Amino acid sequence: MKKIVVLGAGYAGLKTVVLLQKKLKGEGRIVLVDRNTYHYEATDLHEVAAGNLPPAKISYQVSDLINSKVTTFIQDEVVKINPDDKTVELAHREQPLDYDYCVVSLGFTSETFGIEGAKENTLQMTNVKEALEIHRHIVDKMKDYKITKNPDDLKIIVCGAGFTGIELAGALVDARPRYAQIAGVKPEDIQISLIEASERLLPMFNQDLANYGVNLVKKLGVHLYTSCLISRIKPSTVIYQHGRGNGDESMTAGTIIWTTGVSGSPVMAESGFNERRGRVVVTDHLNDPDHEDLYIIGDVAAVMAPGSPRPYPTTAQLALSMADYVADDIADRVRKGERLSEPYSYKSLGTVASVGNTRAFGVAMGHEVKGYIGSFMKKMIANRSLLEVGGLKGLLAKGRFDLYH
Ligand code: NAD
Repeated sequence: MKKIVVLGAGYAGLKTVVLLQKKLKGEGRIVLVDRNTYHYEATDLHEVAAGNLPPAKISYQVSDLINSKVTTFIQDEVVKINPDDKTVELAHREQPLDYDYCVVSLGFTSETFGIEGAKENTLQMTNVKEALEIHRHIVDKMKDYKITKNPDDLKIIVCGAGFTGIELAGALVDARPRYAQIAGVKPEDIQISLIEASERLLPMFNQDLANYGVNLVKKLGVHLYTSCLISRIKPSTVIYQHGRGNGDESMTAGTIIWTTGVSGSPVMAESGFNERRGRVVVTDHLNDPDHEDLYIIGDVAAVMAPGSPRPYPTTAQLALSMADYVADDIADRVRKGERLSEPYSYKSLGTVASVGNTRAFGVAMGHEVKGYIGSFMKKMIANRSLLEVGGLKGLLAKGRFDLYH
């Protein structure tokens, strides 16, 4: 019986497994590997970081979606993939796993671009533990303020104003009254700043829509510093150059959060794939160009957008769409012995950024959306994706558990 090994239980990997469990009709074995026993919704990490949602609200047990008659779940760390031998090395297993088909969906990690002090002196937001750490840190700083009266304790800097930075800033604005209560100050006394290298924010949107987003962020009281290239981070200090040719400037804060972009899992480089920032340009069947039994999907894949020199930006929506394709392709190859699918193509439902819980802006189903309706559309897109995974939404509503007691 064919063995399909899926690496990573993020959006892409978990959806592949859920679909394969149905499509293989008992004609294959699935092995799913992840370092955690739970899946988390990476798109909502900013809500945990701000303290608006507990970790349990965005996480659920992988075992709840596993059909143990078809799938074996292994909790372990993937160390290296050897595509020529068709094996996968795990941290706590002497024998490598072998496979007939492998789906690599190992997700993203924070990208610091080698900037000095960024890893050591900022808080990252790439998983639930890190998001929770951010929240704990902010609360501690608010408590400290009561004793120290150091204004820096009330300052939060978010480095990088891409979608992640903007969504985080919006969630922090929502949380500000709670922080203020802890610190014994007014919400306006808590300063939230976004520092961004580009002059023009949100390049994926037209100028009007981007301006709308920028104004929304500013209206909520977020201090936005554009054309500020961060070059170094010291403890509690961000050092940057504003514009061209000017010297170093700096800003201090008790909390500094790093959201300047992401790269694919370091396992891709470790395994010798032809990767850039942990992403491999895949074929139109979503395979590694040199290994057609190995699929690469989600944030470790670069799918070239037709007519563009760039790949599609990595999103949960794209990851889920790749999972659909791969599950069909593998099921055909296993059950019918041949490939029946057309080459992969992607149609985005839209791109919407939330700014706090009730406001959002972007493009959904080809239309610009703003304000409350934007927020509604964002939730619709997310819900549709979750429903596609097969009842995940139901699980989210009831099947919660607490990761951190
Ligand atoms: P990103 O790369 O999109 O944005 C990072 C930002 O940091 C950029 O604006 C960049 O100019 C800035 N930056 C980089 N280096 C800097 C430096 N040294 N100094 C100052 N600024 C610097 O990364 P992201 O926001 O983490 O998003 C990652 C991916 O996830 C993107 O494809 C994004 O579209 C996607 N995403 C989508 C959503 C959504 O659909 N709602 C939400 C979050 C993320």
